[in-house]
Amino acid sequence: MRSSAADGGSAGGVHRVAIVGCGFGGLFAAKALRRADVTITVVEQTNHHLFAPLLYQVATGILSSGEIAPAVRDVLRGQRNAAVVLGQVTDIDVTTRRLALRAPDGSARSIGYDSLILAGGVTTSYFGNDRFEQWAPGMKTLEDAHRLRDRIFGAFEMAEWEPDGAKRGAWLTFAVVGAGPTGVELAGQLGELARRSLAGNFRNCDPASARIVLFDAGERILPTFSERLSRRATAALERLGVEIHVRTTVTDLDADSISVRDAAGAQRTIPAMTRIWAAGVRAAPLASLIAQATGARTDRLGRVAVTADCSIASHPEIFVVGDMMDLAGLPGLAEVAMQSGAHAAKVISARIEGRSEPPPFRYRDFGTMAAVSRTSDVASFRGLQFSGRVGWLIWLFVHLVFLTGFKNRVTTVISWAVTFVGRARTERSISARYAEPSRTAGAGAALHSAATNVVTGDRDGHEG
Ligand SMILES: Cc1cc2nc3c(=O)[nH]c(=O)nc-3n(C[C@H](O)[C@H](O)[C@H](O)COP(=O)(O)OP(=O)(O)OC[C@H]3O[C@@H](n4cnc5c(N)ncnc54)[C@H](O)[C@@H]3O)c2cc1C
Repeated sequence: MRSSAADGGSAGGVHRVAIVGCGFGGLFAAKALRRADVTITVVEQTNHHLFAPLLYQVATGILSSGEIAPAVRDVLRGQRNAAVVLGQVTDIDVTTRRLALRAPDGSARSIGYDSLILAGGVTTSYFGNDRFEQWAPGMKTLEDAHRLRDRIFGAFEMAEWEPDGAKRGAWLTFAVVGAGPTGVELAGQLGELARRSLAGNFRNCDPASARIVLFDAGERILPTFSERLSRRATAALERLGVEIHVRTTVTDLDADSISVRDAAGAQRTIPAMTRIWAAGVRAAPLASLIAQATGARTDRLGRVAVTADCSIASHPEIFVVGDMMDLAGLPGLAEVAMQSGAHAAKVISARIEGRSEPPPFRYRDFGTMAAVSRTSDVASFRGLQFSGRVGWLIWLFVHLVFLTGFKNRVTTVISWAVTFVGRARTERSISARYAEPSRTAGAGAALHSAATNVVTGDRDGHEG
């Protein structure tokens, strides 16, 4: 019997599981329930499952969006007990067990549930300086990566137009804030792009003269990796000409510059038309919705406290997994999301089958890694540390295993060969849009609004 999304897929009293968010946590929860006697409704506000660790490759023209963001509907097409609805959850009534949704046309909808898994992830945090957002976009969504790509390639186009040396220098200066894996990966790829991929493409500007400046308030880059790997990554970035400024805090941003203060208290302003914020995260608004509805505690990042089975203490039928979950200090990593999503699914299956529940959730750490340059990565796994080409091969293998879909793996390998063995970037198209009004104020307005593309657009803070 067919059932409607409005009742959460309920068909003849079958247990209804609603999963909100189809990133790593939500997708692994849905897949772990594939053989369970339940109806699953996956609610996602985008139509795709995003492989966020490769967003920076979309932003820098290496991969296409389809390669890292397949349609959720297609990913779950073979799972008969799962339906997908495109919509944003705007409210949760934990008494009547209903979710209020906004459909793509803006209309209000609702669905019911018996068990609920919330996997809404995180958004960018500007550490209380929300006004920075308009000048330094974050990189959390596919849209962010597209806008960032517009801005990066648009900056080289503007430098080509610019007769004034100082202004050309500002267009060719790329400031990345935050030296966790996302900032390091972005800075490395900007270095590769400027020094290698764009060679011979311009007549009036020299892309190789671009300045890539990486700022972080901490003591060193990649703070969640060992000091040795951090030093290796520093050396690899410096070989690409990336300027690294640690113990340096961003104090201000405007339309065409970034102001920073170093450890000695010295303040300086650097003209830079492209600024990218890769520095902090906070839980998605969904977290505060459920915290208010249930009285659950949240931590300083807004993540929801859960018990050892990933459910909310006062509402055992509601699970919070992945980046939104506050459990035993676990970091915001894809593996944590996948494992916690699958664990919540196992608890639900055990309950409806009347079996005893699985033991408390235990995260199995499979290691972390960051791609520094074309052929150099750092990876750490259970005390073992790898860098350079070996690290790069491990990175390649792991990312291919976790990318969703066979076709995506094939086309991604081809794109990587084109970029890393050759030097081309196949995904360089940018949209000829003008600056958004919020970005046209200030001294850089003329430059911004003349640009072919101006943008807006981390996991860092995820790791700790
Ligand atoms: C740029 C970047 C690089 C990263 N690199 C790495 C890495 O190298 N290694 C690593 O382990 N981790 C990395 N991470 C972190 C990793 O991606 C996250 O830990 C993981 O995605 C968390 O999974 P999740 O399911 O909790 O959230 P997500 O995967 O973020 O999924 C959340 C989903 O919920 C949806 N959603 C949110 N609110 C609503 C709502 N109200 N209604 C409907 N849908 C909603 C969102 O659209 C999204 O699809 C990176 C993250 C980023 C952003």
